[in-house]
Amino acid sequence: GATMAKSKFEYVRNFEADDTCLAHCWVVVRLDGRNFHRFAEKHNFAKPNDSRALHLMTKCAQTVMKELEDIVIAYGQSDEYSFVFKRKSNWFKRRASKFMTHVASQFASSYVFYWRDYFEDQPLLYPPGFDGRVIVYPSNQTLKDYLSWRQADCHINNLYNTVFWALVQQSGLTPVQAQERLQGTLAADKNEILFSEFNINYNNEPLMYRKGTVLIWQKVGEVTTKEVKLPAEMEGKKMEMTRTRTKPVPLHCDIIGDAFWKEHPEILD
Ligand code: ATP
Ligand code: ATP
Ligand code: MG
Ligand code: MG
Ligand code: MG
Repeated sequence: GATMAKSKFEYVRNFEADDTCLAHCWVVVRLDGRNFHRFAEKHNFAKPNDSRALHLMTKCAQTVMKELEDIVIAYGQSDEYSFVFKRKSNWFKRRASKFMTHVASQFASSYVFYWRDYFEDQPLLYPPGFDGRVIVYPSNQTLKDYLSWRQADCHINNLYNTVFWALVQQSGLTPVQAQERLQGTLAADKNEILFSEFNINYNNEPLMYRKGTVLIWQKVGEVTTKEVKLPAEMEGKKMEMTRTRTKPVPLHCDIIGDAFWKEHPEILD
């Protein structure tokens, strides 16, 4: 504290490295579940996509956005979520370790805290962990390309996993056989296998699986019922009130093309 006299030990603070993120740049924190291949198996995740797990991830990301400062957009898929801090953020003097550790710990504690709301009859068997990294992007273009990269990754993995698990679950192939069958195939080949062998049109698969989840701040009209003090004869009556709040709202839209950024210019302001 400011009033405390400096001790002779204070000099050790000088060993701390400066990790200030470059001014005026976008700061991205990406988290990824630690060893979630195993975690998914132990907790009986549905394959290829467990929607409970995806919704829980998004709940945690919304909590991070509400609890921490200056996050303008987040994007999640599989066991990962990326958080983008606004260019001019001066939260914790832009220290990378503060951004990263606050995001990671808030997310991980939320994952445990909200687990039961999403996995009603699947107990949480051990405490999950998440790694974090900080990446600094100097321009709107590099930030958009970063988010495009993650969404393209979502698409590539989900197309592969959708065919892989159809071959295993519906055609009875072993995982090794399914992997061999898909070796060297292109996207068009995978779409063709899905359509001809499983009557699946990949484009009709749920958007959340194909596109991942984008969280942006939007005004939401919220109806709340409130007990209000009323004259005795109306006691106990409740009043309905509508107020608008800004909330992190999930979207499952394309963020690779220009349309999203034209529709939401305020994000990159
Ligand atoms: P910041 O987010 O900057 O860390 P902070 O409020 O956590 O803010 P710290 O300097 O970390 O500030 O101090 C932690 C404070 O938490 C202590 O000053 C004290 O008030 C409280 N605290 C922590 N542990 C205990 C404890 N075991 N018993 C009582 N109070 C505690
Ligand atoms: P690492 O610690 O290196 O991140 P990992 O096992 O978490 O190892 P990832 O590349 O992050 O490896 O892959 C995450 C794995 O978690 C996926 O391959 C998948 O098996 C599983 N997984 C994550 N989310 C889901 C989900 N919603 N539904 C089904 N499986 C999931
Ligand atoms: Mg992982
Ligand atoms: Mg991952
Ligand atoms: Mg503290």
